[in-house]
Amino acid sequence: MSPGDRRARLVVGNWKMNGSRAANAALLGALKAASPFAAGVAVCVPAPYLAEVGAALKGSAIAWGAQDCSSHDAGAFTGEISAAMLAEFACRYVIVGHSERRALHGESDRLVAEKAAKAMAAGLTPIVCVGETLAEREAGQMAAVVTRQLGAAIELLGYAICDTVVAYEPVWAIGTGKTASPAEAEAVHAELRARLAALDPRAAAVSILYGGSVKPDNAASLFSQPNIDGGLIGGASLNAEHFAAICQAAA
Ligand code: PEP
Repeated sequence: MSPGDRRARLVVGNWKMNGSRAANAALLGALKAASPFAAGVAVCVPAPYLAEVGAALKGSAIAWGAQDCSSHDAGAFTGEISAAMLAEFACRYVIVGHSERRALHGESDRLVAEKAAKAMAAGLTPIVCVGETLAEREAGQMAAVVTRQLGAAIELLGYAICDTVVAYEPVWAIGTGKTASPAEAEAVHAELRARLAALDPRAAAVSILYGGSVKPDNAASLFSQPNIDGGLIGGASLNAEHFAAICQAAA
């Protein structure tokens, strides 16, 4: 059995700051009707909706999670949400280091690693996002940037990195309609896999998701690459039909 045989196929929807109680109920109802999927499926939703989303998905094959957590345990951190709080809502996943948080909230590689550590301490699986900007890609720094970002998480988590999910999301492809070609994405995933394998053979079995304008018509070609284990899906995860088609493509 090769490490690839053990890697979990996973598709995660990132709703970002979208949704309403009515829209969420309709979306989740349609997704449940389309399930089960051959791949693991989860939705990472805005925190105020976690209780309702959890109630709607309980007993289904679809997991849920959040889009960020604090690097602190508790205290005077107005607006922050701890990983332990997310665990109380039975979240399985939490996204950390999404490029929007790195760019808009100045999150450093170290902070992202600390958030991943807090998530794991609370029993959640962090989805650690990495990805280069267009300027970094054009400067030929793509591999250096993503391995630096992943390296910060490996440095802090050590062998616990084996129990995370990694998401490669080229910043220039997020919400832009531009997608890395399957070969471009595969090349970066292979770099990330090699970085993980250098730590431990078990780490080579971490699921590495691709994110960046994944749609029903490009999902299958991306997911068929040897080192792409599924997707982190933004815009298309808000449309039940599109998201279900992407989930089926990861089978
Ligand atoms: C994302 O926000 O994680 C993402 C991949 O967005 P989109 O699919 O819309 O590009």
